[in-house]
Amino acid sequence: MAIKLRDHTELELVVEPRGDNGRRQECCRITCAGCDAVERRWIPTRFNEQDTVAFFTRMGWRLGRSPKCPGCLEAEKIVPTKKEPLMTVVPMQTPQAKPRPLSPDEKTRVRQKLDGCFDELRGIYLDGQSDQKIGESLGIPWASVREYREIAFGPLKGNEETAALKGDIDKLAADLAAVMSRSSKEIGELASAKDKLLTRLNALEKKLGFG
Ligand SMILES: [Zn+2]
Repeated sequence: MAIKLRDHTELELVVEPRGDNGRRQECCRITCAGCDAVERRWIPTRFNEQDTVAFFTRMGWRLGRSPKCPGCLEAEKIVPTKKEPLMTVVPMQTPQAKPRPLSPDEKTRVRQKLDGCFDELRGIYLDGQSDQKIGESLGIPWASVREYREIAFGPLKGNEETAALKGDIDKLAADLAAVMSRSSKEIGELASAKDKLLTRLNALEKKLGFG
């Protein structure tokens, strides 16, 4: 029978045959969560938890809820270095271009673009457009597009997706309010119907002398 230590449940106290003569001796046993490797510390006379923990640590084990043997720990160390060459190099995001003043002609072109795809009322771009895309298509820093859009058309409050979500939420809220007012009306009707019946019952009982 194995007894798990309370503060180190990964350590078990067991009695196992030791050596060739098969004499059984108490030992503290740890099993690797990775490869099921087992390490034992034979207990000569008295069990000492601190010493045992120190022993396994010295042997290169990592104790804890999911104990690992030195071999598994070594393999863990190798994995990241193996992975390194596989890592894709993420290009650094282009630093946000600084807005520059637009020429009157550029302003006209930006305005024409925005007219077709920016909903001023909702503050959203339509057709998947964005400051960036307009800037790209006109060869103008998108920060300048943003600056001009803010002044001429107003702030960006979201995009089509968030606007659609907001629309859905508004609709659900309206539905919910309708159901709630309907049920409160129904609750009121049921309650008053019950009251009427109760009044009739009381009157009848009184009349019949049951009251
Ligand atoms: Zn292992």
